[in-house]
Amino acid sequence: MNYFTKKGFTLRFTISLLVITAILLTMLTSITSAVQVNRSSLIDNYLNKNESYAKKLASNTNELLITMQENIGAIAKISGREPEIDPQLFDDLFQENTQYFNSIVVADNNRIIRALSPRTIGISVGDKITSEQSKMAIQLKKAFISEPYRATTGRLIILISAPIIDNSGRYKGFVGGTIYLEEKNVLSNMLKEHFFGDGSYVYVVEKGGELIFHPNKKRIGQSVLQNEVVQKVVLGQSGSQRVTNSGGDRFLAGYAFEPSSAWGIISQTPAQVIDEPMHNLVKRMLLVSLPFLLLILLLGWWVANRIAKPLHTLAQFSDEAMLQPVPAENIPDIKSYYYEVRLLSQSVKIALQNMNQDLTHLRNEVKIDELTGLANRRAFDEVMAGWMESNVPFALILMDIDHFKQVNDTYGHVVGDDCLRYLARIMQLMASEDDLCFRYGGEEFGILVKHCGLGRAKDLADRLREQLARTKSPAGTSITLSAGIAAFPVHGRSAQQLVERADEALYQSKKDGRNRTTVSSLPGA
Ligand code: GH3
Ligand code: MG
Ligand code: MG
Repeated sequence: MNYFTKKGFTLRFTISLLVITAILLTMLTSITSAVQVNRSSLIDNYLNKNESYAKKLASNTNELLITMQENIGAIAKISGREPEIDPQLFDDLFQENTQYFNSIVVADNNRIIRALSPRTIGISVGDKITSEQSKMAIQLKKAFISEPYRATTGRLIILISAPIIDNSGRYKGFVGGTIYLEEKNVLSNMLKEHFFGDGSYVYVVEKGGELIFHPNKKRIGQSVLQNEVVQKVVLGQSGSQRVTNSGGDRFLAGYAFEPSSAWGIISQTPAQVIDEPMHNLVKRMLLVSLPFLLLILLLGWWVANRIAKPLHTLAQFSDEAMLQPVPAENIPDIKSYYYEVRLLSQSVKIALQNMNQDLTHLRNEVKIDELTGLANRRAFDEVMAGWMESNVPFALILMDIDHFKQVNDTYGHVVGDDCLRYLARIMQLMASEDDLCFRYGGEEFGILVKHCGLGRAKDLADRLREQLARTKSPAGTSITLSAGIAAFPVHGRSAQQLVERADEALYQSKKDGRNRTTVSSLPGA
């Protein structure tokens, strides 16, 4: 069964298409909504996770900074008690604090270094510290955590300092513990473990929006205040949101404010992490629904077939019936569960039966021989009468196939019919447009040759006869014919007389041994 015909889509194709479209749309809707629901829950999940993680890190940092300030305070106390600090003791104190500070310095109120550890940091005891932060420590005379700054040694550092007060309560200078931001330090030790395989990472900004910790060390010291999340966290807020960074990358960020230092801690996950689980979800859904999809398609196809098949048979049959009449018994009995189809099939049957009758009538009216398509006897009568009336001279060739009964007996009637059609075609090819080829009846044919003398008529008949004898017929061998010729007005003035003359001549041909042409020898009455 074809899906397309020249006349448009078939019903089966249309129904199948409808079923497929409906299924695909349903699938698309369910996959889209599943993706949306999963996506937003995944996003919420990541936002929450990052927020609580940032909060946890903020609280860890808070504890850490308190410990660090306490430790520096303790060293300040020791420094206040001792007029001069034993370098060995100071090294020991530093050793206890290496996990917190990169270096520890004691400076007097003239900012001259009195002690330091380790001693390999680029300055030594007796040097003067020139940084603004050291001036601030002297001025403030209290504990503080500095902003990041470039130290005398050139390092980017944060200073955690505590004042030194001697036994009599006088301010003597300060102790400063440093965090080298661009090197391995307490923050990087604490935060570096916190990387996930999915590209998530943590960074820390100080209150001015400058990066003091970032997995990419080159970025430390840069200002990221243009970042929406940073703007919020430096204002003391905590929370989570989707954010796009300066490089255009999208993140799911959680952030928390650390109050003792006014630092902000941001934990963020690239938004693309959502993509892979979403792709997997779609893949899984497609895979799971595939068997059902195939089943429904099959079912749809089957239903489409059941509906369309009887209609298709009917349509095809009607199509053929338009071209040639169909015997009533050949009209198929369409069986269908569908009321409409049954009704339609009955109507078509009745219509075709009517059409058959009409067609038979029409053929008679039109005067065409059904088997060969030549003019029939009736047409022959009418044309001949017309010519006689108008006194148009013409010749009548009557022909009869030789031993045609044998052809039928040997090869059957179907082949016999083919031979008749074959002769008709040859006749039409050899006759001219003005002539009328006709089937007189059975295996007898004739040609009315207009404006024609006997000589040319005999010539035509002989050529036709020879052509037939020369070529293979549908029976596989050649067949022959015998012909008789009479002319108007030479051999007769009435149709009956003329036919009789031609028939006699034909009979003569048969008698003389067949496969020949005889011109009537009798003059007209
Ligand atoms: P001849 O004319 O040479 O004497 O022999 P013949 O065998 O042709 O003789 P006859 O006229 O007795 O037989 C004519 C046969 O033509 C009889 C019939 O079976 C066959 N015939 C007539 N009309 C048709 C037809 O429409 N189709 C087929 N297949 N055969 C036909
Ligand atoms: Mg005959
Ligand atoms: Mg015959």
